[in-house]
Amino acid sequence: MKDVNMEVMIGNYSIARGLVEAGLELAAAYPGTPSSEIIPGIIEFNKREKGHIHAEWSTNERCAFEVAFGAASIGKKAACMMKQVGLNVAFPSLLGARRKKIKGGFVIICCDDPGPQSSQTEQDTRLIAALLNIPVFDPSSPKEAGDAACYAMEYSYEHKVPVIVRSTHRVSHARENITMYPIGTRKVALDEGIGEARGQGGESRGQGVKGSRGQGAENQGSRVRGFEGSSEGIGAESNLQPSPITDSPSPIAQNSINSVSSTNSSSSTQQSNSLSAIRYPLNAKFGIVASGMSFSIATDVIFELNLTRLIPVYKVIKVNPVDPEMYDFVDNVDKVLVLEETDSVLEAMIHRGDKVFGRRNGYVPNAGELTYDIIRGIIEQIVEETGMEGRTFSPDHSIEEALKEITFPPRPPRLCAGCSHRASFFAMRYAFPEAIFPGDIGCYTLGISMGAVDTCIDMGGGVNLASGFYNACNQDETFTPIIASIGDSTFFHAGMEPLYDAVKTRKRFIFMIMDNSTTAMTGMQPTPQTGITADGTKTHSIKIDDIVKGFGVDFLKIIDPYNMSLMIETLREAHAYLTSDNHSARKPAVIIARRECLLSVKGKHEALTYTINIEQDCVGCKRCIKLFDCPALIFNDEKRKVTVDEGLCTRCGMCLLVCAMKRPDKRQKQIDE
Ligand code: SF4
Ligand code: SF4
Repeated sequence: MKDVNMEVMIGNYSIARGLVEAGLELAAAYPGTPSSEIIPGIIEFNKREKGHIHAEWSTNERCAFEVAFGAASIGKKAACMMKQVGLNVAFPSLLGARRKKIKGGFVIICCDDPGPQSSQTEQDTRLIAALLNIPVFDPSSPKEAGDAACYAMEYSYEHKVPVIVRSTHRVSHARENITMYPIGTRKVALDEGIGEARGQGGESRGQGVKGSRGQGAENQGSRVRGFEGSSEGIGAESNLQPSPITDSPSPIAQNSINSVSSTNSSSSTQQSNSLSAIRYPLNAKFGIVASGMSFSIATDVIFELNLTRLIPVYKVIKVNPVDPEMYDFVDNVDKVLVLEETDSVLEAMIHRGDKVFGRRNGYVPNAGELTYDIIRGIIEQIVEETGMEGRTFSPDHSIEEALKEITFPPRPPRLCAGCSHRASFFAMRYAFPEAIFPGDIGCYTLGISMGAVDTCIDMGGGVNLASGFYNACNQDETFTPIIASIGDSTFFHAGMEPLYDAVKTRKRFIFMIMDNSTTAMTGMQPTPQTGITADGTKTHSIKIDDIVKGFGVDFLKIIDPYNMSLMIETLREAHAYLTSDNHSARKPAVIIARRECLLSVKGKHEALTYTINIEQDCVGCKRCIKLFDCPALIFNDEKRKVTVDEGLCTRCGMCLLVCAMKRPDKRQKQIDE
């Protein structure tokens, strides 16, 4: 086709492309793995298309949600993006917004992190959507993620309800060849139902087997809380004139589920497969209902096990409201395995007792990602147990066996070699080994391995915990040093109010703001202090120092963490200040540890060429490895000495300060060089 381009891209770029092709006009997000690449994708496609989309990094997810919702309310096609735990930050807005009328289209892209791989908790956004009666799509591949994003925007615009697209990190970060269409020309047909599995697709539709569809449909309302809605259809609501935001619930929003259902029977009919498409043995011993990446993995597994003719797979994309045909499918197999990440959403809807293999009876693990190995194990077990006839597979375990021969050294998550946070954490521990260390979310959570982070609950949580610890200690008339830490982006996201509260209520603790001038963990997005917007345009810089001073903090020092002796001295000075009789000292002492992230300075300065000779004088005590945890430090078992991995070492020289065997004059020389 002349106007159609193809490009290999990750799922998040595919989502960005889908939104742009649906006519997106505004996008706002707070970065968080696995969602962070969607805004850059939108900016890139907008540039290529010479469009006028406004895209911004917001200070947190609630801001992003409300900015996008505001635009959608008065008629724009708007979207916000966040990771799953970010939705918790936007939750109050979500609760309110789902009951308001919108004039435009509003899509919430929420990327979940089964595992979790880079989050503090697993969380299934589909469950939240089902509870709140918000339509939610769960794509199974990068291509489908783009389709779902485009479809969701069109759907939201047409029916004036917020729609959620739930991705997961495998979908968001896998790559696929994606077709790109001119803006506004993409026609999306979501591939739901049966017949799409690898090796199952086919032309032979129309063998018409009808299950107990009525029963399934009738029972939907009681299967999952929140499904109850008015029996009025979209036809009635669609006559309502959209109006600006009001405090009264929108009848359209109230009936969003019915709206979707009734739409399924109209505009979506052509896009959804019919049960009449089934060309595999109904009354099969065993079928699978799957959504998201679990569907893709399940179809791979049954293809590899040569079971495609025996095990029908029903794919769900619209998890809420689910297509009633899913119940027909379930009725027509003896047993059904439900594969979904990460909670029991479809399984709860199906609710067919012993018929279901799932989380409730232990076939599917209750937590963690459903990887290839796990899904294959489940399918093999069920095939074995059900004694399926015609079983022809002999699993090829050669790769697994070969992998057993290879041993990899354990690689726990660590701060980068040369990261200045490591120096700050070392100084904190060195100055006050017995302190309480409330930590926060970001790269610096990794300070846990250095014993300088004791807690990590959510963004901004460490500062409030420090306040609570202070009061608890104070009531018991003990004064244990408390050193809370937070990053610069997190300070803007959720650390300011807790600091203001701590000042207002006279808490005495040290608050270390680790300012590396970027949002490093999620891919170097600019913070409000950088004075740069999402597309690189210059804007006002908001200084952390000014905010801290504005809150009334008197003890504020800005220290380069590579100046470790000054950092240790300043920490002690802060403690002396907090324990003094000075009345004005009844508020937190703030230290800003400021040094640019190594990844952002890469290439900006000339590479350092001198050698870090850690081996010299080394007696093999491993103090540097245990206390400093730099990945470039390696213990050589033969030499019984520590050596440096030159490929990783950034020549920061910090390890030389940690080693008790190195002479101080030599240490300083190394640093000065
Ligand atoms: S702290 Fe010093 S002496 Fe101890 S292992 Fe490290 S380099 Fe060797
Ligand atoms: S100088 Fe030492 S602390 Fe710095 S990166 Fe190299 S090995 Fe790590």
